[in-house]
Amino acid sequence: MQFFRIKPAPLLALVPAAAVFLAAALPLALARPAAAQERALRTVVIDPGHGGLESGAKGRFGNLEKDITLAVSLKLKALIEKDMGFEVVLTRDRDVDVSIENRSAIANNHKAGLFISIHANGAVQKKAAGSETFFLSVNATDEETRRLAYLENNSSELQSRIDPSTDDDLMMILWDMAQNAYIKESSRLAELIQGELDAMLGTRNRGIKQAPFKVLTGVACPAVLVETAFISNPDEEQKLASDAFQAKVAEAIYRGLVRYLRRGE
Ligand SMILES: [Zn+2]
Repeated sequence: MQFFRIKPAPLLALVPAAAVFLAAALPLALARPAAAQERALRTVVIDPGHGGLESGAKGRFGNLEKDITLAVSLKLKALIEKDMGFEVVLTRDRDVDVSIENRSAIANNHKAGLFISIHANGAVQKKAAGSETFFLSVNATDEETRRLAYLENNSSELQSRIDPSTDDDLMMILWDMAQNAYIKESSRLAELIQGELDAMLGTRNRGIKQAPFKVLTGVACPAVLVETAFISNPDEEQKLASDAFQAKVAEAIYRGLVRYLRRGE
């Protein structure tokens, strides 16, 4: 009888990195439901994109993405702390360099229940406008999204100098598996935040999308990346630089968060 023949070595044995990773990730995934809820009530990590030598995208009037992301993040932090009473940790609270790896490490070290990365979009097309909210996937929704993820992932030359030996593609896939445990929650959070941005900003709805943003990969909780508006669009650049618009963006993200925490919405 052929049926009882012993199979050869399992496939995982041939891929030690994957095996080690799975061993580490599995307990995390199994422990998730209780831990995720408990964490959601304690700590929110806000990640102001870029910083220090790494300015991010630059507008025609000289505004820098790194300054806008910090301003919005500080406003969002104040709102959450005032009205929700959660601990809010910023990955940076000044104009300093923080590597992508350190951003996710900060979230994990603080046992973040939610991770929100704040950015301002840049496009060659000056007319490109509106806000977008992303969650993580190895595959990008479309070509434009792929390009954006590439820019955000590679805008720091410092980054490649810090760890040139990392096998990015392999790490990306493995970490994507870790974020997969949170993909439903991340996509729900993205949708609710985007809904509030659409309602409050009066900018064009660009929807929620999936993209391989490195900053989201190592984070062990629901995580989204918000591209608030286009700094490459002169009209939106001026809005982004204004205190009033920054406050609106922060308020919209905050409202999305409130709805997210109301279960069942
Ligand atoms: Zn950015």
